[in-house]
Amino acid sequence: MSWRTTGYLCALTAVAVALIGVGRFNCSSTSSPSEPTSTDRVFERTQPLMGTNFEIQVVHDDAAKAAEAIDAAFEEIERVESLISEWRDDSELTAVNRRGAEGPVEVGEELFEVVHRGIELSARTDGAFDLTFASCGHLWSMSKRQVPSKREIDDCLPHIDYRQVELREDDRSIALPDDDTEIGLGAIGKGYGVDRGAEVLSKHHIDDFVVDGGGDLRVEGSSIGRPWSVGIAHPRDAQRLLGEVTLSEGAVVTSGDYERYFEADGQRYHHIIDPETGFPATTSTSVTVIADDATTADALATGLFVLGAADGIELADELDGVEAMIVDDELKRHQSAQFDRYFRPAH
Ligand code: ADP
Ligand code: MG
Repeated sequence: MSWRTTGYLCALTAVAVALIGVGRFNCSSTSSPSEPTSTDRVFERTQPLMGTNFEIQVVHDDAAKAAEAIDAAFEEIERVESLISEWRDDSELTAVNRRGAEGPVEVGEELFEVVHRGIELSARTDGAFDLTFASCGHLWSMSKRQVPSKREIDDCLPHIDYRQVELREDDRSIALPDDDTEIGLGAIGKGYGVDRGAEVLSKHHIDDFVVDGGGDLRVEGSSIGRPWSVGIAHPRDAQRLLGEVTLSEGAVVTSGDYERYFEADGQRYHHIIDPETGFPATTSTSVTVIADDATTADALATGLFVLGAADGIELADELDGVEAMIVDDELKRHQSAQFDRYFRPAH
């Protein structure tokens, strides 16, 4: 694993990272000129996890302590992945999906909590984000450019319904209504991994850090006197940013239709599906959510994307501690009431 100090002080979404290399991105500079500008204390490492590249940046005086903390955070994210992956044969979630229709499957506290939170957020978004979306997720494949038939979708849709998942607190078990209903944590699990990684860094007394799970970020403190600055990618131009979010504590997550998609018959098929139609949601191109934690921000970014600008912003305004920006299909920006406190549009 490479271990190096970084010359850049900004945390960026996956697409924006590419811009660093060509020097087109400038960090926000709200610090006074007398503050130290040395990057010797900034440590950065990347590791492939949860189907994306996780990057951790830490600011600390002691390189050995920083390295130890980053190691522990990556280990933690790996542990979370093995627990909640729906792809691994031996994960707890796989056991629920296999046996949950036969009766309640007892699970550990952690999986129970993530699923519980997922159900809450499914309810809050009125099923726009739905934890049981995975029941029909297999019909789609971005890599194989696979478009299901309308009939396949219609047959499958009744199995997407988070309200049918039974969570029992007393024996901490989860039951599913039928063999064809599955739980998937694809739109919330990365956020949870980011939160767990952040917690481990805090436990190691790291006060200034960024954990970036491929565009799902959690930040704390500052980067050598400057607040962390997160570049938000332009959904239709990889060379441009929409702007920057500046944050010193909390999560900022962006979901877009430009991350994983293919085009066929003049249509863009991407990975955020509207559970009502079974097809990719069409009214948004990019959604950025700011929240206290990345688990919430991750699920909401997907949910608001599906809801679209009017309903999505209305919901964001209702939720405490949540701010959002939705870019619609005409690339118009819609923002919640306080989003501007954090966001500076690019020129
Ligand atoms: P990314 O992982 O690229 O940041 P998201 O957080 O929006 O994007 O998650 C997208 C993934 O979530 C999809 O690949 C799919 O597995 C799952 N998903 C897609 N649509 C929904 C939905 N409406 N509700 C819940 N999960 C979804
Ligand atoms: Mg998400």
